[in-house]
Amino acid sequence: MSDKVMENIQPTDLVIRVNHVLTNDPCALCNAPTDATGIDLFLADRPALVCHACGLYHAPALVRLLNLASAANTFVRAEYEMAGVVTDEKLF
Ligand SMILES: [Zn+2]
Repeated sequence: MSDKVMENIQPTDLVIRVNHVLTNDPCALCNAPTDATGIDLFLADRPALVCHACGLYHAPALVRLLNLASAANTFVRAEYEMAGVVTDEKLF
């Protein structure tokens, strides 16, 4: 069953993954420099970073989701700062 699902992955299918290693390798699709933030776009079939321009082209919904996550992160961080909570920057 899961083999069938894997066969349906296209070379340009993208996923959002937590970037544990925080690499900033060039984009796997266009070789442009990427801006690793901790939650990044990757190819679905291998751990290769994809830039936002390619993301917008191949998976605009995922890029919108990333932008939303980044806006929410900024907002939450500001709220924390106002409340005097010390945040762990490495979490995001
Ligand atoms: Zn690219």
